[in-house]
Amino acid sequence: MDLYSTLSGTVEPLVTRHPDRVSLFVCGPTVYDYPHLGHARTYVVFDVLAKYIRWTGKEIFYLQNITDVDDKIINRAHEEGVSQSMLARKFEAEYIRDMRSLGIDAVNYYARATTHIPEIINQVDRLVARGVAYVTGSGVYFNVDMFGGNGELSGQDATKRVSLVTDTSKHHPLDFALWKLGEFGEYTWDSPWGRGRPGWHIEDTAISEKYFGQQYDIHGGGLDLIFPHHEAEIAQMESLEGKHPMVRYWVHTGFLTVKGEKMSKSLGNFITIRDVLRTWNKDVLRYFILLSHYRSPLEATKEGIANAGRALDHIRAVAKKDTGENQNARKAFTDAMESDLNTPMALAAIQALAASGDLSALKEFGEVLGINFLHETSATLSVLQDIRAELRAKKQFDVADMIRKRMIAAGITVTDLPL
Ligand code: AMP
Repeated sequence: MDLYSTLSGTVEPLVTRHPDRVSLFVCGPTVYDYPHLGHARTYVVFDVLAKYIRWTGKEIFYLQNITDVDDKIINRAHEEGVSQSMLARKFEAEYIRDMRSLGIDAVNYYARATTHIPEIINQVDRLVARGVAYVTGSGVYFNVDMFGGNGELSGQDATKRVSLVTDTSKHHPLDFALWKLGEFGEYTWDSPWGRGRPGWHIEDTAISEKYFGQQYDIHGGGLDLIFPHHEAEIAQMESLEGKHPMVRYWVHTGFLTVKGEKMSKSLGNFITIRDVLRTWNKDVLRYFILLSHYRSPLEATKEGIANAGRALDHIRAVAKKDTGENQNARKAFTDAMESDLNTPMALAAIQALAASGDLSALKEFGEVLGINFLHETSATLSVLQDIRAELRAKKQFDVADMIRKRMIAAGITVTDLPL
């Protein structure tokens, strides 16, 4: 497979560290609100990437972090008069529920920042011991001057970049916090430097080092994370023992936009995933997302989604009679997927498969894309899956398991995401 890496700025053959095993880390959400359509775009793309790699016969471990300690969580919990953990658990469960509704089930493990505090402290400690981080009255900071590779991913000139936090106790405005000192309520931990909480960038490298080591294959996220987040991750991890590159394939998704602007909570131009799913089902939404290449911007319009729905209806309408294999269209599908995950081309191949009546390929490739090209996902089934996800989030496992058993007995495949 060929994949574009932001690091090299080119499409490269995907050569993984172990020939048959792929390690994929994707930045997860900050769980303080309901996910929106922009999140759906990014996470559907990585779900398809993981499913495709798995389909080619490779083993893939797909790891995602959950940012459950953050200023936004602290502020929102304060506004709502609930504890930080209550708020974070609630929105984590809502996130998992929405991912499930979208048919996103390729993630092997969701790792919370707050359950990796010893790993985070250990990594900060090693960075201090190496002399690349320093301690002040307000926290522990990474010294960007000590890291030669800084700027490699974003290609930005360090002197022109501005830090998001202006803090006079830092040696350099670009230095970033690894550990913030202070009392932050429930989410405050003891550390060798005093009580406090982790900075944002360190949670990802502490988690990825724990499960993958200091080097792994693919790191993903939206375009907005290249700088400063991913740049900071590289600086932290590569400073530990100088292993380079931390990751060879940096895969970034383009934005889902509204009137040309990134959909985001802060701009207020967002629509939640669950609201979209009230009108269109997940197959239509995935089809809409995959009709654009993952690196291009994707403008969200009702017409765009409705057109995707019509195209999907057409595929289902023509794919009624099994008339055997269409080798050319099958090859066109895999060629497209191999070519930097070119899903628009892959969907063109799907149309050809439908036209020629290759139903078994439609079923198989439909599983790779997470779209049922043969039948509409029944509303009853979606409701049942939704209810089970809610029961599991509320730890009512006995009822959830009973429904699961009945579904399996009725011949329905049931897969659960780890909680
Ligand atoms: P956040 O919770 O904002 O940190 O976002 C979680 C992930 O969703 C990150 O990889 C973001 O880049 C991605 N994301 C957020 N908004 C959008 C958007 N409008 N289009 C595409 N990806 C997005």
